[in-house]
Amino acid sequence: MKLKEKVAIVTGSGRGIGRSIAERLASEGATLVICDVDGDGAVKTASEIAAQFGVKTLGIKVDVTKSDEVDALVKQTVDTFGGINILVNNAGITRDGLMLRMKEEDWDLVINVNLKSAFLCTKAAIRHIMRSDYGRVINIASVIGLMGNAGQANYAASKGGLISFTKTIAKEFASKGVTANAIAPGFIQTAMTDKLKDEDKAKMTELIPLKSLGQPGQVADAVAFLASPDAAYITGQVLAVDGGMTM
Ligand code: NAP
Repeated sequence: MKLKEKVAIVTGSGRGIGRSIAERLASEGATLVICDVDGDGAVKTASEIAAQFGVKTLGIKVDVTKSDEVDALVKQTVDTFGGINILVNNAGITRDGLMLRMKEEDWDLVINVNLKSAFLCTKAAIRHIMRSDYGRVINIASVIGLMGNAGQANYAASKGGLISFTKTIAKEFASKGVTANAIAPGFIQTAMTDKLKDEDKAKMTELIPLKSLGQPGQVADAVAFLASPDAAYITGQVLAVDGGMTM
């Protein structure tokens, strides 16, 4: 129980990797704020996590691209639980297409959900995180943000930006005792990757040295480590959870 009494917000945690992260932090005793653009999913996940792990939870509908909704999320968290210790910027989407055919709206949407959201959530939460005696910001980037990928100019730019944002936050808030790190998952089995064709999945698996897709729980384990006291002297880093893809 390394995170007892710590208050964590995980964005996009109604399902997928975000939900696994929320469950894993709850298994360490953290109080969890589950927020998702799917409000019913957030409330359901919050009540299931409370029942399974015996921790306090809150499920809130939040579109992380909207600053008023993000501000309300932070206010409700602080009003309910008295502060914030851990912020996990996880919400993310894809709208793939080759660059020359990519619509401007798909560029804007992906940058807003994957990158601007981290700016809005961190800006709103960081004052409260700084005030606590234990602060962690963890951003869920992607190996695509390190390597680029044909057909994902918007996604690659958003995740590359998220990595530079993470390093900047790490530098700006280190003196306040807050660490900031990014996780770069590889090819993880969720709804995001389920929509790919089987032949594409087989090709991707071939490129992974460990020869299997990752599971959401494996990303969650890395987040739990970075959120824990064991990672107190680690900041500004990018931890790839990718079966060796980027080594
Ligand atoms: P997912 O299954 O599609 O889950 C994403 C979650 O984010 C969903 O619950 C979604 O809500 C929510 N969301 C989307 N837009 C939002 C918004 N504007 N405001 C609040 N919540 C929003 O995806 P995932 O695979 O778990 O991905 C989670 C993170 O890991 C993302 O940042 C993704 O880029 C990153 N990642 C994933 C992989 C992979 O292989 N799966 C690899 C590298 C990085 P709805 O349910 O309503 O859509």
